[in-house]
Amino acid sequence: MKNLYVSKPLLPNIDDLHKHINKIFESGFITNMGQEHNLLEKKLKDELCVKYLNLFNNGTIALLTAIKAFSFPDKAEVITTPFTFAATPHCITWNNLIPVFCDIKQNNMTIDEDRIEDLITENTVAILGVHVYGFPCNVNKIQNIAQKYNLKVIYDAAHSFSSKINGIGIGNFGDISAFSFHATKLYNTIEGGALSYTDKDLEYRIKSLRNFGIQNEELVDDIGINGKMNELQAAMGLLNLQLYRQEKEYRKSLRDQYIQSLSDIKGIYIPMFDSNVEPSYQYFPIIFTESYKANRDDVYHELKKYNIFSRRYFYPACSDYSCYKPLIKKFKPNLPVTDKIKNQVLCLPFHSGVKQVHIDQIYKSIKALS
Ligand SMILES: *Cc1c(COP(=O)(O)O)cnc(C)c1O
Repeated sequence: MKNLYVSKPLLPNIDDLHKHINKIFESGFITNMGQEHNLLEKKLKDELCVKYLNLFNNGTIALLTAIKAFSFPDKAEVITTPFTFAATPHCITWNNLIPVFCDIKQNNMTIDEDRIEDLITENTVAILGVHVYGFPCNVNKIQNIAQKYNLKVIYDAAHSFSSKINGIGIGNFGDISAFSFHATKLYNTIEGGALSYTDKDLEYRIKSLRNFGIQNEELVDDIGINGKMNELQAAMGLLNLQLYRQEKEYRKSLRDQYIQSLSDIKGIYIPMFDSNVEPSYQYFPIIFTESYKANRDDVYHELKKYNIFSRRYFYPACSDYSCYKPLIKKFKPNLPVTDKIKNQVLCLPFHSGVKQVHIDQIYKSIKALS
């Protein structure tokens, strides 16, 4: 079998891309908020059903900028999840802030909102939740806590493109949400990202930070960064915007097929979406519980024999990173659920390149070890 990876980039028709490139080359503007960029910014705002949206060159710079936009005092604390991609705590740390790790919930692996209040100190300034694998955080409870303690709420929505809660675009919750359009995400601009928010007062600062804090030829009044999405990225984005829904439909039915196929194997827990959630279909994680005979790593290695490359997201947890050792020593976070789930979870290949033969082989391998 040909190598099958956990994700596969959505690619537009190359002739269509060529037309866009011709247009970009004719214009002579290849970056700095060009035509394609501005059109994509507008289209994505509508697609994600959000009030304000600004594009970025990647999701990490977007998240970095979201945190920066609030000018938190140095060494202030941000309560976040350790069960995420490295970018989440790194963006907090790059802002001279301290990520305080809060444990996650068994059922959908998002931050455990019932454990947040215990971690709040006089230094806490924000909660940074991650809609991990596309499972939304408990946005209502988190909002209530934030209001009670006057904290900002930022969401890492990298896995949640086009997701909705009760029909409301997920980018409307919290103060700012950061999206990633990296090649591995449901929707990509090769590398790219965006911030969405509902407060117009944030717009000036976010746009300013995105462009070095430069206001005009003579005035630079903020310590910004280069967060600009270029025209070729935007062209990919415009074309993929027409394709991602079809990919999403495929994954929706793939998810159903996986669930059906795995349903007779003992010891597998498949996290489910609440009925009020429109999923993003970013990943398909399954949990090997204590009653599964072998363990997650056995399955991971067994699948590799058939050139099927699943991923152990998010093992190791961010709280295990050697770069956060001093932090862990100081804060001694209590993370029993994270420390259990990180050894049990496996993300199966989840994209339109996954065919029946793959589903059959994955079933056989998992069944044989059960
Ligand atoms: C992909 C990802 C990011 C960062 O996105 P990039 O666009 O790759 O910089 C941030 N957080 C999470 C959870 C991600 O999966």
